Amino acid sequence: MQNKTENYDLLYKLVLIGDSGVGKTNILNQFTRSEFLQDSKTTIGVEFASKNVTIDDKTIKAQIWDTAGQERYRAITSAYYRGAVGAMIIYDITKQLTFENVDKWMRELKENADSSLQIMIVGNKIDQRNLRQVATDCAVAYAQRYGVAFIETSAKDGTNIEEAFKNILQQIYKSSKVVKPTPQPSKFVMANTDVVKTEKSSSCC
Ligand code: GDP
Ligand code: MG
Repeated sequence: MQNKTENYDLLYKLVLIGDSGVGKTNILNQFTRSEFLQDSKTTIGVEFASKNVTIDDKTIKAQIWDTAGQERYRAITSAYYRGAVGAMIIYDITKQLTFENVDKWMRELKENADSSLQIMIVGNKIDQRNLRQVATDCAVAYAQRYGVAFIETSAKDGTNIEEAFKNILQQIYKSSKVVKPTPQPSKFVMANTDVVKTEKSSSCC
């Protein structure tokens, strides 16, 4: 790894999940190496990559786990989730089915991950404006219903990639300082990018 991540105060394991092809590997590459691969279909995913982020004067080492394509066969093992304190469920805003499958990934987390895990739903590929199938409103409503964070990104041009990771790390940091369980805080995050106009009652909501 080219990033110097040896000196840190806290280590947080994050996992990336979501359907195959939504951009998990590229989101990770963009965040940790400022790289985008136009055709990464044949890339074999790394186990994880790390990057340090500063929050509240603390150096947090984010250890981000990516799948090696096992999600295609729904064969992510429980070891993948072990010790994770945060998860990004990624979908592709140009593919409705990948958004519908967010539900499946939520269930997967419920079954395999710690209940205190912080979740962020990420709508990726917003650079492909003309191909959008998932209205932002629908995803916002979904995230609000489950009390999880939401953001839209582009791994291609880097929009909101840094913000997404910083945000989930901040959530984890804040929640780890809570001694007693408290009612669900409002963790809702909105992308500040080109939020599209959406029909009031789109079919996906
Ligand atoms: P994964 O299977 O979820 O890891 O997805 P990949 O990161 O391998 O990406 C799948 C394909 O989508 C590749 O051809 C990427 O170049 C492309 N891709 C990923 N992120 C973006 C994005 O933000 N915008 C665009 N236009 N393409 C993307
Ligand atoms: Mg991948």
